[in-house]
Amino acid sequence: MKRLGIIGDPVAHSLSPIFQNAALEAAGIDAHYEAWHTPRADLPARVGSLRDGDVLGANVTIPHKGAVIPLLDGLDPRAALVGAVNTVVQRDGKLTGYNTDGAGFVEALRREAGFEPAGKRVLLLGAGGAARGITFALGQAEASAVHIWNRTPARAERLAEDVHAAGMPAEAVPEASPAGYACIVNCTSVGMEGTGTESESPINLAQAEPGTLAVDIVYRPADTAFLHAAQEAGLPSLGGLPMLIYQGALAFELWTGAPAPVDVMFRAAREALARPAPP
Ligand code: NAP
Repeated sequence: MKRLGIIGDPVAHSLSPIFQNAALEAAGIDAHYEAWHTPRADLPARVGSLRDGDVLGANVTIPHKGAVIPLLDGLDPRAALVGAVNTVVQRDGKLTGYNTDGAGFVEALRREAGFEPAGKRVLLLGAGGAARGITFALGQAEASAVHIWNRTPARAERLAEDVHAAGMPAEAVPEASPAGYACIVNCTSVGMEGTGTESESPINLAQAEPGTLAVDIVYRPADTAFLHAAQEAGLPSLGGLPMLIYQGALAFELWTGAPAPVDVMFRAAREALARPAPP
């Protein structure tokens, strides 16, 4: 049996083992996906173990998405552009890093909300790791403008500069004003379970234009205060689960070469989210 896993700290709450194992089983692939809790000091040894012949690859999550890069043999151009790796593929003992987070987000927009980013103006709230992958992916998908607001403005400015340097549109904005966008994305952790901000939305959506798509990438809880605000304002909305599933589906296809059974992955993840989070 082949092995896969998620490398991070913490990883106990990750949904990836649940929906990736459901996908492997449904596709008839003899492999098992494990949670590989990896403190910083253990990262080199953990990445080294991916060269074993029975390992197909791994996902990488907080806090190792940048630190893993010098430990790999090669990088996909998209991962090099973003400066972060969330997927490692092992072939013939060689490790290649990919980033499927941003592409997973764009795939979720297209397939689950029927939203095509090309030519559209988008407002991103947040400038952390997730916002970074999403900003580059929106640029590659030819969004006409990507405005970034962040609680700590210097971080938004730095991200906008990096994306600009890669020849794509991005601009830091001092205020999160919702008017004038086709899509507004919450990439902050505001609203996420366990943060103490569960009842908060990072923006007042009452002034958004009709038809503006409101996307929250937070997926626990499924129904965030930001999504509530969107519904109250009569806006179409999308939660965070589709991004999680499509980044995983793209990784699955890189590891196995088989099409990902996306419906199976959604079902397994939704069942797990309906249960109380592990302590
Ligand atoms: P991160 O790198 O730690 O960034 C956190 C972001 O949230 C920063 O922009 C931070 O602003 C902002 N923030 C935190 N608390 C805030 C508050 N009280 N008010 C305003 N802004 C606040 O985290 P990340 O990896 O980007 O993840 C962000 C969220 O996305 C998490 O909830 C994560 O679970 C979710 N996520 C979902 C997916 C998916 O597949 N659906 C994938 C990745 C992440 P400062 O810079 O000012 O601190």
